[in-house]
Amino acid sequence: MNIILLGPPGAGKGTQARILEENRGMVQLSTGDMLREAKDSGTEMGKIVADVMARGDLVTDEIVIGLIREKLETVKVNGFIFDGFPRTLAQADALGKLLADEGQTLDKVIELRVDDDVLVQRITARSTCGSCGEVYNDLTKPIPEDGKCVKCGGTEFKRRADDNEDSLRTRLMAYYKQTSPLIGYYYAQGKHSSVDGLGEIAEIQSAIAGQLDA
Ligand code: AMP
Repeated sequence: MNIILLGPPGAGKGTQARILEENRGMVQLSTGDMLREAKDSGTEMGKIVADVMARGDLVTDEIVIGLIREKLETVKVNGFIFDGFPRTLAQADALGKLLADEGQTLDKVIELRVDDDVLVQRITARSTCGSCGEVYNDLTKPIPEDGKCVKCGGTEFKRRADDNEDSLRTRLMAYYKQTSPLIGYYYAQGKHSSVDGLGEIAEIQSAIAGQLDA
């Protein structure tokens, strides 16, 4: 089963994708993670996207579609969770074609619905383990007092450069202008459903499981 987790920055897509990986053996494909890796390792492409990402604007369709194409051609698994991709209608069309080329389909699109007010709060409070990527939140899931990641025991934690109020505003605007039309796009294909993204992580997890097993 291939699915998309759709929602604004801070909706919890990454957290839920990681849970689905653990529970269902699916594989998360996050274009944001791939772009950050390229940026951190200083590749040509990483240099091109660095400023755009810091501002919170979208990088070109060509770049992200290329990243996803490469993964779909080389990684063979039970199911992909697309996280942060597609973000434009052109990317959504491209994903449909790429999956068809691999003899696969897109099965479900789950939208995580949240209030904009909580996004700022969540985003400015979040950090991740530098080793395994486990997501923490100062308010709801703080880093353990012993300073060790609950998943891997790692002791380095990082905050994203674009997790500040200015970038978030641009990222939210990009979401509403360019990404939210995908809700209608997938609704018309009979693939869209939504869950309340405001509750506890475990509640949201079971709501998503309910949608996937429906
Ligand atoms: P994310 O980790 O999904 O919040 O993505 C971080 C940043 O990477 C975004 O603000 C964009 O600058 C860029 N990005 C990630 N995925 C995409 C995408 N599918 N299309 C365009 N830009 C993207």
